Amino acid sequence: MRPDVDVVIVGAGFGGMGAAIEFRRQGIDSIAILERENDLGGTWHVNHYPGLAVDIASVTYSYSFEPNPDWSRLFAPGSELKRYAEHVAAKYDLRRHMEFGTLVESAVWDDQDRLWRVRTADGAERTARYLVTATGFLSQPHIPDFPGIKDFAGTILHTADWQDGFDFTGKKVAVIGTGATAVQLIPEIAERADALTVFQRTPIWVVPKVDFAIPPAVRQLFRRIPLTQRIARVVNSSLLELLMVFGVLHYKQVKPGNKVAAGLAKAHLRSQIADPELRRKLTPDYDFGCKRPTFSNTYFASFARPHVTLETSGIARLEADTILAADGTRTEIDTLVLATGFNLWDVNFPAFQVVGREGRDLGKFWREGRFQAYEGVTVPKFPNFLSLNSPYSYSGLSYFTTIEGQMKHIARLFAELRRRGQDTFEVTESANDAFLDEVTDRLQSSVFYNGNCAGSRSYYFNQHGEATLLRPASTLRTLREMDSFPLQDYAFS
Ligand code: NAP
Repeated sequence: MRPDVDVVIVGAGFGGMGAAIEFRRQGIDSIAILERENDLGGTWHVNHYPGLAVDIASVTYSYSFEPNPDWSRLFAPGSELKRYAEHVAAKYDLRRHMEFGTLVESAVWDDQDRLWRVRTADGAERTARYLVTATGFLSQPHIPDFPGIKDFAGTILHTADWQDGFDFTGKKVAVIGTGATAVQLIPEIAERADALTVFQRTPIWVVPKVDFAIPPAVRQLFRRIPLTQRIARVVNSSLLELLMVFGVLHYKQVKPGNKVAAGLAKAHLRSQIADPELRRKLTPDYDFGCKRPTFSNTYFASFARPHVTLETSGIARLEADTILAADGTRTEIDTLVLATGFNLWDVNFPAFQVVGREGRDLGKFWREGRFQAYEGVTVPKFPNFLSLNSPYSYSGLSYFTTIEGQMKHIARLFAELRRRGQDTFEVTESANDAFLDEVTDRLQSSVFYNGNCAGSRSYYFNQHGEATLLRPASTLRTLREMDSFPLQDYAFS
């Protein structure tokens, strides 16, 4: 049976677009990119809260094959990422493949016809020879059910569902959460609101952000001599790599690297907060790297302002115009900002039901067994399926490293299919087991298992307490392995 399309890609963010670019390079043009939102860009379309910017320098946080000489700052604002996504879609002619407002509910492998049956919320079914999920790691917002939240009469904003232009002037605001999003947002709200109370459950490591506008002359240089921007990318990526490899992955062997980073964050805090009690509350009691650290020059300073309060006793409940802390403190508010992040391990991985051969349900397989994916991209009993947001897929600190590694994997796999004149691939159980053993083993040196991560509440850990998000390898090693994995790790038919 001929499928409707060769490939269904779910998600029109940078991952889905990278996969589409690679399939086009492989000569496959029959592609449907299904996207639940009304436009492309993934995270950079959905998130548009004030202060949004990349926290990996833009020379690195972009496709290596599509450098953008026009970034306005070293750390570009979110709107520029959205424009960059639009530029990539236009240049690589991807929009014609995209179907917006299309929510995928399930995908089931049909072993008889050797294709995927993909069902969408409108009841339609599409068939495809290959299925790619590019649904993001941080795409299912986490909205805690605080007692009384339904009684709250003011405005509630989740950072991933922002009301553009919302004016905080004169408002009495509570922000819940102190993750990377809150770190960007809190200084913006503090600038305008009458009163701001921040509810922190777990403090975050924050290091200074060396950010500046990129002078027009440098942008010109990047445009005229692209090699200069490539050099800037290599330098920046190497620094990030040092942080990742020595600060996180090889914690056991190189503890001082991790301690230096923590020391830098503590010195940063001291330079902005004079009150020792406030500093104590803002200092994490887990090791640097257990949880995604962040960069800001204005976050800590916000807490030194007289109208900003840090509340650490927890949230008891909400009333119509009040948030009540666990220690009994009542704070009158009219705006509640939920910077409460995303739900990775319960409702993502995968973002919808995926059923492979012999009825294997991916969500159940991962939750009831162990989270696993060969090279962070394929799973046994799921033929012709590439899961871009998989356990152990995230490599390096810039998401683009992950995407480009996976593009290499796709290229190698499809070159082999072409060479054999075949159209079906499936990773073998033994190759998958060996990969899982290897990453489990390598992770034993990381801060996750050697450091003190107990109090970190980090989304790097799944519900079984295993750190199954990051691939424990340098980016160079990941890229090499994606380009050279043994072809016998797959069964082709
Ligand atoms: P996050 O890191 O998961 O932080 C969520 C925050 O909400 C945490 O402080 C969490 O506290 C708190 N929270 C959640 N449920 C709560 C509850 N029931 N009661 C009290 N507090 C609660 O989410 P995020 O800040 O949105 O960031 C997610 C990731 O997005 C980042 O790690 C980063 O990778 C990415 N990001 C990147 C950028 C960038 O590149 N520019 C910007 C923003 C975000 P606990 O820690 O105690 O759970």
